[in-house]
Amino acid sequence: MPELPEVETVCRGLRQSVLGRRVEQVELRRRHIRVPIPDELPERLEGAVILRVERRAKYVLIYMDNDYVMIVHLGMSGRLMVLSVIPDEYAKHDHAAFILSDGQVMLFNDPRRFGVITGCDARDLQHHPMLAGLGPEPLSDDFDGEYLYNLCASRKQPIKPLLMDQKWVVGVGNIYASEALFSSKTLPERPANSVSRKQANLLADSIKATLLSAIDSGGSTLRNYVDSRGEAGYFQHRFFVYDKEGEGCVVCSCPIKRIVQAGRATYFCAKCQK
Ligand SMILES: [Zn+2]
Repeated sequence: MPELPEVETVCRGLRQSVLGRRVEQVELRRRHIRVPIPDELPERLEGAVILRVERRAKYVLIYMDNDYVMIVHLGMSGRLMVLSVIPDEYAKHDHAAFILSDGQVMLFNDPRRFGVITGCDARDLQHHPMLAGLGPEPLSDDFDGEYLYNLCASRKQPIKPLLMDQKWVVGVGNIYASEALFSSKTLPERPANSVSRKQANLLADSIKATLLSAIDSGGSTLRNYVDSRGEAGYFQHRFFVYDKEGEGCVVCSCPIKRIVQAGRATYFCAKCQK
């Protein structure tokens, strides 16, 4: 499943290749993915120029010059890619194709169909049901040790599910929550209100560093963003604890443990993390 770094990488790839292009034609090959694609979407996009591409949480926001914003979520298996020419034949799960003025095609492919393509006027964006109520971006200045400490101080729940709650901070998924807790030496089951100010600082910094390092490793896939059929969204990053059950901890060699928290697998080192 694409997490924040993968979505950020997709946004960077799009910025390199589609800004300033006009959408000539929208071909919806399937009108219903996770939710229906709005009927108005093709006519709102056709003839409009792509001004900006932004990321909010795990949504790709494509701002057009007519104040419309296309909102794309990759779901479990979605890819948003750019081909240099219209393909002779679309692939099975190519659900939407956006033909651009320079002959390129922006393509949305999603075998499992948990992705979303929708849109709204820019002025309505912050109240859009999918975006309203989202917490701060983890890489922004709004998210820091002080914010995290204050958040934790009044909550008894374990720290890891708290970090994954989009109300409090967006885009820290299961993988990067486990990794950041490991690098800040914080036990995932630790009650949030037992986290000290110093620990909260360390954890906030680890979250940022872990995400940035993953975004960096996505950077190497960007050179080939066009015609890559979306590999940029699914780069392999090296993890310390995630999916490493039984393997030796890189710090102390103790076997990495796996538990389930709030229905999600959590990986940690019982010796290094307190
Ligand atoms: Zn260890």
